[in-house]
Amino acid sequence: MASEPHGPSPLGADLPEGARFIGTAMASPGWASGDAPATVDLDTCVACGLCLPHCPTYQLTREESASPRGRIAAMRAVDQGVAGVDPTFSAFMDRCLVCRACEDVCPSHVPFGRMMERARSQIEPRRGAPARLVRWLAFHWVLPHPSAIRAAAALQPAARMLLPRRLRTMMPRRAHPFARLPVRTDPPAGTAVRGTVALLAGCVQDRWFHEVNRATIRVLARNGWRVEVPRGQACCGALAAHNGRLEVARRLVKRARHAFAKADAIIVNAAGCSAHMRDYGELAEGAALPVHDLMRFLHDEGLRDEPGPLPVTVAYHDACHALRAQGIHAEPRAVLGRIPGLTLMDIPDGDRCCGAAGTYAVTQPELSEALRRARADAVMSTGATIVASANPGCAMQLGAGLRDAGARVEVVHPIQLLDRAYGG
Ligand code: SF4
Ligand code: SF4
Repeated sequence: MASEPHGPSPLGADLPEGARFIGTAMASPGWASGDAPATVDLDTCVACGLCLPHCPTYQLTREESASPRGRIAAMRAVDQGVAGVDPTFSAFMDRCLVCRACEDVCPSHVPFGRMMERARSQIEPRRGAPARLVRWLAFHWVLPHPSAIRAAAALQPAARMLLPRRLRTMMPRRAHPFARLPVRTDPPAGTAVRGTVALLAGCVQDRWFHEVNRATIRVLARNGWRVEVPRGQACCGALAAHNGRLEVARRLVKRARHAFAKADAIIVNAAGCSAHMRDYGELAEGAALPVHDLMRFLHDEGLRDEPGPLPVTVAYHDACHALRAQGIHAEPRAVLGRIPGLTLMDIPDGDRCCGAAGTYAVTQPELSEALRRARADAVMSTGATIVASANPGCAMQLGAGLRDAGARVEVVHPIQLLDRAYGG
């Protein structure tokens, strides 16, 4: 790859042997105005390739173009003005799950998630009109507006058959369009109050996994926390950001800052949302919020109330945005380990992505399906009757994979197990 106009090529700027890349014919070279991966971020990659065996899309395809190193090389080529954001470039980026496994193992601490979100923000305006319309409706009109999500949940029974099959098989059958969480829940009488926390209800989480939010409130209250659910909150913006809709994501940051302005601790029970909210400061200066992943919070603060027995065998699925983006592994296991009679199984190759990744099942069905099948097989190999995952996307993906395989394995959030052990 030529780099004369920029002096000597920085280490790792050349595409490694075997890479397929990239014509300049279909797009003008360089980034368009607006958000784009920062050169300083791109230059952190030294092209060592240590991330390749950990990248799910590289594992499946064995193509450099579907690896973190290949994707960064493609971004660099655009950044250096020797290639443009053309359909080939878009295809490289779209196949990424944004699982951040590469970021987790990278010795140079490449901020891959941030770079990918910004690369995708360059791709968004260049998509075809039908794709732009669908994405505009989803990311600008439905997800950010709680009333639109309620309407979508209410219409689900009728609209279900109109959804693409892959989406249909993933969606939980039952939604809760009109359910509301209590604004404030106090610990039971006689329980010493440890403090007040605010709960992110979430968009998909509160309509399709409302019972997870209820269980979260019950367990926190039982352990001495007063739980508030501030009105005025909306989607955290993770899905918009991962898809390159950064202006919507920034609007949602502002809304969250307003809704949670008085909170000392914001508890988030969906791993994708907690990972994204912990990075708010990267999206907007000074926007950082005191966000805590629920299972880590319970672990770090400790359980005050001992759970009762629950004799079940549970396979624990690590969501990428908990394990990779936040380094959460031991904490949920330690919390569940407090439940007498509960046997916890590790899933073989448990650090592999399940292929949910927001809209990935719809946009990259073959890759998503292959990852889903592999995870379902791995869960079944444990012999567990329950699989626990702290992310709604993973729960839907695992549920669909297990149903496809004819397995009778219940999919729950880990907080629901704790809630059951408390008799909730
Ligand atoms: S491990 Fe990090 S530095 Fe090495 S190729 Fe992957 S992203 Fe680049
Ligand atoms: S985020 Fe995941 S899928 Fe994307 S390049 Fe990194 S490891 Fe591969």
